[in-house]
Amino acid sequence: MQFHSTRNKETYVSSSQAIAQGLSSEGGLFVPVSFPKADWESWKGLDYPHLAQKVLELFLTDYDKEFLLKAAQESYGERFGGKAGYLAPVAQGTYALELWHGPTCAFKDYALQLMPRLLVQAKKNLGATEKTLILVATSGDTGKAALDGYHDIENVEIAVFYPDHGTSEIQRLQMVTQEGSNVSVYAVNGNFDDAQTGVKKVFGDRTIQEELAGRNIRLSSANSINWGRLVPQIVYYFAAYFQLVEKGALTMGQKANFCVPTGNYGDILAGYYAKQMGLPVGKLICASNKNNVLTEFLETGRYNAKREFYRTSSPSMDILVSSNLERLLYHVCGSDKKVAEYMSRLAKEGEYTISPEELTAIQADFACGCANDVQVAQEILHQYKDNGYLCDTHTAVAFKVAREYGEKTGDNAPMVVLSTASPFKFPGDVLEALDQAAPEDDFQAMTALEQFTGHKAPESLACLREKPVRFTAVIDPVEIADVALGTK
Ligand SMILES: *Cc1c(COP(=O)(O)O)cnc(C)c1O
Repeated sequence: MQFHSTRNKETYVSSSQAIAQGLSSEGGLFVPVSFPKADWESWKGLDYPHLAQKVLELFLTDYDKEFLLKAAQESYGERFGGKAGYLAPVAQGTYALELWHGPTCAFKDYALQLMPRLLVQAKKNLGATEKTLILVATSGDTGKAALDGYHDIENVEIAVFYPDHGTSEIQRLQMVTQEGSNVSVYAVNGNFDDAQTGVKKVFGDRTIQEELAGRNIRLSSANSINWGRLVPQIVYYFAAYFQLVEKGALTMGQKANFCVPTGNYGDILAGYYAKQMGLPVGKLICASNKNNVLTEFLETGRYNAKREFYRTSSPSMDILVSSNLERLLYHVCGSDKKVAEYMSRLAKEGEYTISPEELTAIQADFACGCANDVQVAQEILHQYKDNGYLCDTHTAVAFKVAREYGEKTGDNAPMVVLSTASPFKFPGDVLEALDQAAPEDDFQAMTALEQFTGHKAPESLACLREKPVRFTAVIDPVEIADVALGTK
């Protein structure tokens, strides 16, 4: 399989190159030149790593198949406690695809456990000997998932920057207690945007890049625009579907709907790829929080990022520019020129509007909805009281949107809600939603949530209490460049 940029379909690259490079030189994202049609029915009954191998080998054709299997086994075996792609029944016709049984308790583990292995192998495939320096600005989840994935990976260093006082206490401790000889973590004075802007400046600075190149170091990013982060997420749509068949919720070939709590449009787009590969997916339902730029887009065709930014109880979805939407635009309009024009308008004017035909094509596959924090809290309570199901704030956004979709359309195909984080990652918000007093301290809240629900907090979160803090530096955004150059 070859890949080209969403903004230039003249130049082709291999999958190794797409993964090693991340972003195309003119700013576009890499997409596969076609959707591989798969004999997917024959995959039923495979364990998760073997299923992953089947999906990965269709896209990563310059990787050895045995390598892909081994990488999937190392990523999704023990580290997910045997629960990779686990589908939990919630209510009649409704299921939760629990994607938070990995080491950092958020779905990003699916991509970030595998991606480091893909990157190391990509460099081998390309004969590249340079050291990779990964810089990550994070509002919480991505930073820890990337640290866990990249620690002690050969010839890679990773530095993570989070806003000082801008993450939850648990998220902060997950990062500053990270083990490994090739990792570093910095608090940045300012908010997430300040950290992000500081990192972007380094990526855009030719002098820094040349200085590093002289030392055989190449900068790279771990965020979700890399194809290597998207492709692992296709796998669990297949895994969920086969479990629906096994449970007798549908027969092979009947359609299932998926509702996805969405930020950067990476997770839901993986479902679109699964559908293009032949999986019987009905609607992919895009669930947003109060930052509902995608709801407006999917309803009207107008993407308008010029709006107030809200901090919500589902922080990993607090996003106004959803990078992966660019890939969908390309697949729908098929024109690199048009995508480049939309993206340039977005950069210059903060908005763009697609044609009515393009909107119709998108609406054939995607539905949408949104929920504010009050509705999220109500939904957590409803799911717990009426279905005995405990969910986190992000997943609750999707439960609410999925329910409304069913009521509005009468579509009664089985509904799979992607559950993207453990409720114990946000214990205070979840406790309050359950009408319980929430202690200020996150660990006390974790204990209180355990006592109230009888569920056990994941060990990787509970053990943070005892872990030594390794990183205490607080820097200014301009100093991110010094970190990259190794002078800080
Ligand atoms: C990142 C994240 C999301 C959003 O996923 P996208 O691929 O960015 O759309 C949703 N929920 C949680 C818990 C996340 O960490």
